[in-house]
Parts: sequence; structure tokens; C-alpha cells
Amino acid sequence: YFRALEREGIHLNQPQIAAVRHGQGPLLTLAGAGCGKTTVLAARAGYLMAVREVPASTILLMTFTSKAAAEMKARIAALPGIRPAAARTVQARTFHSFALAMLRHHGATEDIFGDMQAQHTIMKMLQRQLGLSDVFQPESLLSALSAWKAGGRTTDELPEQTPDEKDAKRLLLAYEQWKQERNKMDFDDILLRAAALMKDPQILGTLRRRFRYLMVDEFQDTNTLQYDMVRMLADEHRNLMVVGDDDQTIYTFNGARQESILEFDRVYPGAKVITLNQNYRSDARILGLGSSLVEHNRLRRRKKLLAAGQQGYPPQFSAPAGTEEEAAQVVSHLLRQVEAGELAYRDIAILHRTASSSRSIFEHLILRDVPFIQYGTGPVFYDQSLIRPLMDHLRLSLEPRRMDALASALGPLYVPREAGLDYILREEKKQAKKYPLIHLTRWDKLRDFQQEQVKGRIRLIKSLQTMKPVLAIQEMRRQFYDKYMEAGDPSILTHYKETMLETLEELESAAKRFDTVADFISFADELTRRHKEMESLRMSEDSDAVRLMTIHRAKGLEFPCVYWIGASEGILPHSTALKQDVPDDRKPVFGSAAEGADAALEEERRLAYVAVTRAKQKLYITSPATVHGKPAPVSRFITEAYGILPEAASKPAADQPLRERNNRESSRSFAITSARSQGNRRSHTVTIRQNADGGRTAPARTAPRAGRTEHVPVWTCTAASCKA
Ligand code: ATP
Ligand code: MG
Repeated sequence: YFRALEREGIHLNQPQIAAVRHGQGPLLTLAGAGCGKTTVLAARAGYLMAVREVPASTILLMTFTSKAAAEMKARIAALPGIRPAAARTVQARTFHSFALAMLRHHGATEDIFGDMQAQHTIMKMLQRQLGLSDVFQPESLLSALSAWKAGGRTTDELPEQTPDEKDAKRLLLAYEQWKQERNKMDFDDILLRAAALMKDPQILGTLRRRFRYLMVDEFQDTNTLQYDMVRMLADEHRNLMVVGDDDQTIYTFNGARQESILEFDRVYPGAKVITLNQNYRSDARILGLGSSLVEHNRLRRRKKLLAAGQQGYPPQFSAPAGTEEEAAQVVSHLLRQVEAGELAYRDIAILHRTASSSRSIFEHLILRDVPFIQYGTGPVFYDQSLIRPLMDHLRLSLEPRRMDALASALGPLYVPREAGLDYILREEKKQAKKYPLIHLTRWDKLRDFQQEQVKGRIRLIKSLQTMKPVLAIQEMRRQFYDKYMEAGDPSILTHYKETMLETLEELESAAKRFDTVADFISFADELTRRHKEMESLRMSEDSDAVRLMTIHRAKGLEFPCVYWIGASEGILPHSTALKQDVPDDRKPVFGSAAEGADAALEEERRLAYVAVTRAKQKLYITSPATVHGKPAPVSRFITEAYGILPEAASKPAADQPLRERNNRESSRSFAITSARSQGNRRSHTVTIRQNADGGRTAPARTAPRAGRTEHVPVWTCTAASCKA
């Protein structure tokens, strides 16, 4: 079998072979990133079938994403001695698809209610019904609910100590009821219900007899529910093989328990433990950076990774002045690599920490027509549920009669928007007004104070028109959100408010670039239009496109070239992890029960490790010197790993492969022309006018010296100072 594998070009090393040949009983395969865990999992499935003649239908492989599941099947099918029918029969599934199949088999008829957009719409509707409009941001509240359920807890058990918690619970219970009445279930319900179903001894017995061999990839990130499912399935026959890397536990906020992997040999006494330490993915210096970075975590199994890759490009570091400059720099840089024929778009991934930290890069990619696929995020930043109302108010300030924006101004009135809009339209037919909102002040459905509110809104809208966009945003933020943001003690909503704050600050940063509301709005509208256009191209998995995703999404994947953006304090490590003042016992919804400040920081460090170890040959790290207008030091994960602050670009390194022109973007007013990609030349030009303060595009923190403005090195080679 192994010789046949070699003929296919797969030369497994000795510990890998030992893992593949493992027969019965529990097995933990522990290994750092890129050491072939997933590879071994697939090879063992093939080995069991081809050599041990184990029926394909008795093998169950659990993976983290459906993409990984599909890939697993494809890999197995390509192994020697596997008939196509057998490859199709192997169950390679995500926990969700496994659970759903089981529920359906046992008669569950619910539709899947998995469309995030639809979920948000329903939440907003329920919020209005309960008089909680504009109080909660649906996205964050739903993800809180998700984390709660991942711990195997029901909505009834949600805490209700503070007024905010009470309101949140009321809303979430209404959401549950809404689903129930319509015979729907969301993804979390699937797992919860499946786990409950498996408690039935008869059902469990059948499952255990069917699936004799259980294998789990990314075991370090199974949450309580998933872990319970695995144990229920495996505890009798104990034919359980798990692979994982404790250094890559990055989902504790969603209920993952790092202990599951750290304790495996205690839970399954006599378990065989095989460690793989030969990395096949990354060049030596990239791997070296990853290792010296994660070494600073205390809660981990120590491991030493060997690099198989050559000493290729050293990881490169750059410290642009801000996130806008960072985005401009990264996009110029990657375009240059592609134009030089060094890489294809599809070889490149841009990894970021949070959704809002991708706002700038997203814009620059779109405006420069770089084909890219963004994974797992919804609409354009300016159309997100928190931001949209603010933008709509700006739109109304320019065009008070813009009907598509009007609904946003009705949000805080706690009346059904449709009825309000209907009323306005009817009155407009009788008598058109400059500010159609004014009709509402005569609507008998509104009480006096609400009519006053309407007048207040109109005053606000009038005043926004002539304001600088950033001041307009600040004014709305003060009026709409500040009261709520300040209210309350540390509660289950702390993290949630943090995200909200971050999103609002990101909006301010975006607005700062513009002098007038009109410019800002036409920019946002243009962006949405371009985004729609790009979406219509329907990029598929194998399109030649840059991959833009969060680090979480990138887990298990690899790319020839990785840009890790936002390597600054406050982004990664994220500000929430730096807050020490939240008592542990008030964090249960959003963190695992044991989570404290240190644990949170260690999880951030693991994220940095995951980011670095996605890269095969090239790794570029950028650390914006300011974030949301505030100074942001270089991420401690970088400085710790290098032992010093990586030097800014004062002297170019000898083997510096790429240089950045002291680019046109650095002038006060710059044009981003489109027509970049695939000969798709368009003439459209979008101009971003910059304020004096936000306009610098200094490529590094050191200003270019006079007389040397032609070329300024951006990326600094820091290999010499890298411990590894
Ligand atoms: P991660 O922790 O990121 O999930 P992993 O441990 O699952 O990584 P794989 O994705 O299985 O690692 O393998 C990483 C890379 O190394 C892949 O490109 C794989 O094809 C390659 N690889 C694995 N084993 C070998 C081997 N014995 N010889 C050559 N290449 C290998
Ligand atoms: Mg893997």
C-alpha cells in the first residue's frame, strides 16, 4: 500500500505510516501546523478499506467545513486501490451534516433556516415588535446565542441578571418561538437536537453498530456538543482516531475546549499517541516564525517542528501609517507580484482578524478591480445592519425624498415601518413635501413624544448635510447609540458592545477620508454597485482570484502567498482580549467558562500562529501604526517572536525581492483607476479626496529622506533577527 502511495507521489514518513497503519483502539495524532494530519486521516481511511478490507460504509470522518469534507472525499478517491463507489460510500461529513442526516432519518421535517440575512431580518422584526429596535445588533446577538447553544445549553437557560440580559433573553426566546411556529431550525438547533436524539439508547446503539471507525480532524476545536457526540459514538468500540494541534484551538469563544485534546489520553486510557513533527508546508523561515511566536503560550504541549521546505523568502514585515495605507500597499504589492508573473491571484490569501478589519482592504481590492473571493461575510461594510441606518440618514440629508432610505429614519419610532412608509406615501400623493417624513407628525398612530422624535430626526437630517462626514457620523452615533453603549455593567453583552464600537469606529475612519457627505455617499454607492457587479461574476472555488478571509476561516488551508494584515495591538491581539477588567464569572456567554484575560490572550496568539502557518513560500505581515486614529504598536506576537521590534525600512535588505514605489496614492488627492484585471478595461475612475490628516501614505514609519523619494523600500527583511 505504501509503495503504491509512493508511486502516486505520496512519501509518508515513519510516524505518518504508523498512524495510517493503526488498527483498533483510540489514537491521538498530535502535530503542529502543516505536518500532514489531514493527509494522514485520508490515507488511513484508504488503508482501512484497501488493506484491512473494512467496509467503506463503516467509516465516519468528521471535518470542520463542508469544503474540507468534499476535499477529504476527493483525496480518498485518489488513493490507490479505492473503487469510486467505495470512495462515495465513506461518510466524510461536518458535524452539522452528520447531525442533520440523522435528524432527517428520524423524521425531522423542519426546514433549515440558515440564511444569515433572513435571520437578521427576522431579528429586526422581532426587535420592533418588542420595542427593542436599535438596541441590539442582530449579528452579534445571534452569534452569542450560537456560542451559548454550542455549550449544550438551551435558550431557556440564558442568564437574566441585568436589564440588558433580560431584554436579550426576551428577544432570543421570541426568535426561538418564531422558528418553532414555522417549523424551522437553524444550524445550532441541528446540533442540539441531534445530541439530544443520541441520548436514546436504541438510536445510539444503531449508530455505534454502523460506524465502527470514527476519525475526527481539527479535534482541538470541537465544542462541547460536538465532543459529546464523538464520545457517545466512540465510547463503546473506542475505534476513535483524532488529529489536531492544541496550538490551533481558535474557537473557544464558540465553545471549543482545548482540553479535549490535551486530555485525550486520560479520557481514553491506553490511547496511542503519535506526534508528527515534520512540516511539509512552509519554508523554514516561515515555520521558524510560527514556532517562535506560539512558544510564548503556556497552555500547550511543547513540540519541535522540523521544516522540510527550503530557506526561501524570509517573512517580510511592514509598518504602514494606517489601515488605509496598509490596504493600498498590500493591493499594489500583490498586483505587482501577479503582473510580474511570480504568482497567480489564486495563490494569494489575505487574512484578517475581524470582519470590520477588512473594510479598507475590501475597498481597495474592489476599486482596483482585483478579482477576489471573500469568504463568509455578508454585504458591503456600508450596508451592514448597524451602518446602513447611519448611511441612510446621510442619504436623506442630500435627498430627503429618497424613499429607499426613509425606512431607516423610522427605526426608533417603534411602529411597524411598513405602516409608516405606507402612510407617508399616501400623504405624499395628496401633497408632496420637501421632507416627506414631516407627514408623520400628523399621523394618529404616533403619540406626542414620537411626533417630537420625528421633528428631531428632520432637524438632524437637515443639519447633517453641511457637516463633514466624520462629524455627521459622530453626531448620529451620539444620538443613536451612546446611551445604550454607556449603559450597564460588564454583562453578557460586553463583547457584543465591543464589536459594535469597533464597527462604528471603522465607519468614522472610513468617513474621515471625505470632505463632503455627497462624496462619501457616492463612494459608498459606487462600492456597492461594483460589489454587485463582481458578485454577478459568480466566482467559484477554482476561479483565479485572491482569497480574502478571516484567520478563523483559513484554518486547515494553505496558500503559496499569505498577507497577514492588521498585526497591531488592538487588532491582533484584539482589544477584547486586552481588557482585563471583566470578572470571569460574567463572561459565560461569550467565552468558555474558564476564560480569563490570559486565556484570551493565548487564544489570540494561536490565531497569529494559524495565520503565519498558512503560508507556503511567501509571508507578508503588515502592522498599521494607527488604528481608528489612535496609535497602535506592533503586535506583541511579532515583537516577542523576533525578540526585538522589527526594524522599519531604514535600509533595504540585500535580498529584498520587491520594492514599493513611493506611490501615487500618497498625494493629497488620489485616483484609484479600475481596469486592472483580465484585460477587462473600463474607464471608470473613483476619486477619494483625502483630508490633510488622513492623507499620508508613508510606506513605513520612517519618512522617506529627501532626494531618495524614487523608491522607498516597504518590506523589511527581518530574517536575521528571527530567532529561528
Ligand atoms: P493544519 O494543521 O494546517 O491542518 P495538517 O497537519 O493537516 O495542517 P496537511 O494539510 O495534511 O497538514 O499537510 C500540509 C501539506 O503537506 C500538504 O500540502 C500535504 O500535501 C503535504 N504533506 C503532508 N505529508 C506529506 C509527506 N509525507 N510528503 C510530502 N508532502 C506531505
Ligand atoms: Mg489539517
